[in-house]
Amino acid sequence: MKNKDMRFATQIIHAKKFRDPVAGAHISPIYQTSTFTFDSIDEAIERNQDYDQNKGFTYSRFGTPTTHELEQKLADIEGGEACLALSSGMAAISTALLTALQAGDHLIAGKVIYGCTFTLLIDVLKKYGIEVSLVDTTNLEEINKAIRPNTKVIYIETPANPTLTITDIEAVSKIAKANNALLMVDSTFASPALQNPLKLGADIVVHSATKYISGHGAVVAGVIIGTREFIYNARFPNLQVFGGCLSSFDAWLLMLGMKTLSVRMDKHCENAMTIAKWLESHPQIERVYYPGLESHPTHEIAKKQMRGYGGMMSFDIKGGLEAAKAFLNSVTLFGLGTSLGNVDSLIQHSPTMSHFGMTAEERAEVSIIDGQVRVSIGLEAVEDLIDDINQALEKARKAVQ
Ligand code: PLP
Repeated sequence: MKNKDMRFATQIIHAKKFRDPVAGAHISPIYQTSTFTFDSIDEAIERNQDYDQNKGFTYSRFGTPTTHELEQKLADIEGGEACLALSSGMAAISTALLTALQAGDHLIAGKVIYGCTFTLLIDVLKKYGIEVSLVDTTNLEEINKAIRPNTKVIYIETPANPTLTITDIEAVSKIAKANNALLMVDSTFASPALQNPLKLGADIVVHSATKYISGHGAVVAGVIIGTREFIYNARFPNLQVFGGCLSSFDAWLLMLGMKTLSVRMDKHCENAMTIAKWLESHPQIERVYYPGLESHPTHEIAKKQMRGYGGMMSFDIKGGLEAAKAFLNSVTLFGLGTSLGNVDSLIQHSPTMSHFGMTAEERAEVSIIDGQVRVSIGLEAVEDLIDDINQALEKARKAVQ
């Protein structure tokens, strides 16, 4: 069956399957080597000067057969021409932005954004002469108003971390195209199981593969998917000189994790929807941020562009910081940590953990308030997760009464 004819659950397992030429191994071998040798100097010159992973490899900083297999699978799954795998989601985001931008260029990005991406845009890119405007990307008028003659990239995170706002990828891609800018989408929270930004008109998609793509919390990795030309330019010279390469072992672990992405994501979505609805009517909860709820301000866009609403949500607990701290100290099934997208549930306090790099005013502007926690709903029995949240909310209530 051709990849294009496969449904997602089949494609995520079979896309660009590697055929081991040595022993026919069912699971691909790990090419654990730093370098590759050649039969002759002519071959060495050709491989080094005309780099093409379909023909061979030179040095593992630029790629290995294992990272190449992962890249081919992800390009296929996202509907892009090519992919570059890197050592973290932040390596993917910074490499993609440095490939697309140079001093004097202007970037428009969403105001609700992962904390380290915010630091990259505000503290780092500005230092290198790149102008940055942060706007509410759910409001197309704000994007249009922010466009300048030197706008080269519109960068959106959808669903956005931590309040799950959804930006209309198709509508923003039209604005980008009309202004000769590239649309770059961080699709980490959705994963390729729930949305494919390139199919909606985006030019580049980035993922923290640490999260749902891996699914088991054992790897830190990132990927960029886009045109063959863009990915080549991201590899040479950016990966080449900044050096944030992914190891073969981690690429292999990602491929193992990816095989269950479809079934994992179905269960993440089902559990999260049940918990979001339950939380919405809980007397200790002020507000629930989950794009699957009709009360979510951008629910209609999520319904249009996503195949499910994902496993991530935030909620505001009555009683502010003190109540949130008592709650976080009382949960027993949720691991207290900043990551997400794993089979087991995780919880964090966005204002003091993932988004501590923003000022209190910057956080307040985008509803990241002191009583807010973010949860990554795992694959446990949903009744057990609800029981755990319920008992912790009761402790939070007593702590502030
Ligand atoms: N993008 C989003 C939406 C994230 O939540 C994160 C990390 O939490 C990143 C990017 C960065 O990924 P990594 O931690 O793999 O560098």
